Amino acid sequence: MEKLYEEQPYIKEFDAKVLTCQPGKNDLYLIALDRTGFYPEGGGQPFDTGILRQNRDKGEAGQGSESTLLEGQRPESTLADVRVVEVHEKDGQILHYTDGELAPGTWVHGVIDWERRRRHMEHHTGEHIYSGLVHRHFGYDNVGFHMGQDMVTIDFNGILTMEQAMELEEEANSLVRANIPVEAWYPSSEELHNLDYRSKKELTGPVRIVRISGGDICACCGTHVKYTGEVGIIKITGLKKYKSGVRLDMLCGDRALRDYQKKQDQVMRISNLLSAKQGETAKAVEKLKSESAALKQQIGQLYQQIFTLRCSKLPEREGPLLVFEEELPPAQLRQFCILLCQEKKGSPVLACSGRDTEYYYVLGSMGESVELYTKKLNGLLHGKGSGKGLMAQGMIAADREEIEKVWHEELWR
Ligand SMILES: [Zn+2]
Repeated sequence: MEKLYEEQPYIKEFDAKVLTCQPGKNDLYLIALDRTGFYPEGGGQPFDTGILRQNRDKGEAGQGSESTLLEGQRPESTLADVRVVEVHEKDGQILHYTDGELAPGTWVHGVIDWERRRRHMEHHTGEHIYSGLVHRHFGYDNVGFHMGQDMVTIDFNGILTMEQAMELEEEANSLVRANIPVEAWYPSSEELHNLDYRSKKELTGPVRIVRISGGDICACCGTHVKYTGEVGIIKITGLKKYKSGVRLDMLCGDRALRDYQKKQDQVMRISNLLSAKQGETAKAVEKLKSESAALKQQIGQLYQQIFTLRCSKLPEREGPLLVFEEELPPAQLRQFCILLCQEKKGSPVLACSGRDTEYYYVLGSMGESVELYTKKLNGLLHGKGSGKGLMAQGMIAADREEIEKVWHEELWR
């Protein structure tokens, strides 16, 4: 079985012959070909997808059926394309997981979904450049590599700061601009012995080496672009601590451009909303946040004044007190309840705010725990909420009349 993608990573279409076809799980068939351009999953690079078209122009299987077709007549379903949905290498054999069956001996024309593969090649090459630089400057290894459709993550076994990651990004992009050839070959065992290369695991069998002069030398089975310039751009979009090292998010080529476009759109909208220059939006948000915090504090003080005034009009008492407030936010309702307790206007105090059959409540006391009353209150008024010690809060699904009835009569039985 010939791996066409190794020597010709740009091969988009190829002819091959079906060797075996076996039914697999989920109504898929497992097809082995004598040669393939489809890359199987491996080395962090996802598999290719595409189609296998039955080729009527080639081989014995097709010749007979071609002549029996009349003009304008479409080939029957026996000549339908099958879709390659996954490709995996098992025991040295590359298996194409397809949605249809093909008879052994059939000639097929394989067509690879090129956008998907091109992105994988760009991201994979970008990863080589960056990992090679991290290895050279810091001695860290790439210990995990995941390539999705829209994002690449790389794990290193050492700590990088954002500043260091950005310096490496700068250097990686200068290697992209230098448009250096990306070489891949199987060296002789002697040559391999003398090469100092990165490898992600203990390797068995022939070792394929990928080299970017001045950037990286690494054992790899994947597909890469021919020149680093094709990567377009390497952009680090995230960095976080991961295990004993860091996990980096990286984007290359048109994925990086899409990301830039999305973020540019956000920055423009934020800039317009805040009437701030695009490069100064963070500063403008900081200002807005501190203004908002000052306003909140001011509102809190105003509420405190209102509550103090309201409180002063109530007589001191020892028994339970129920108060209703119109549309008061939970934090302020709590503030009011605490004040009523402190000023000895009742104990326990139930403060409610809401309308119809939905009330938010705060239950407070100056001396005894309100835990038992909270449970009873919730039980009698279809409430939800909890609290320990001197303060509890929650929601009640009952109207004002029912709350009053429970508070004045049933709760104390
Ligand atoms: Zn590679």
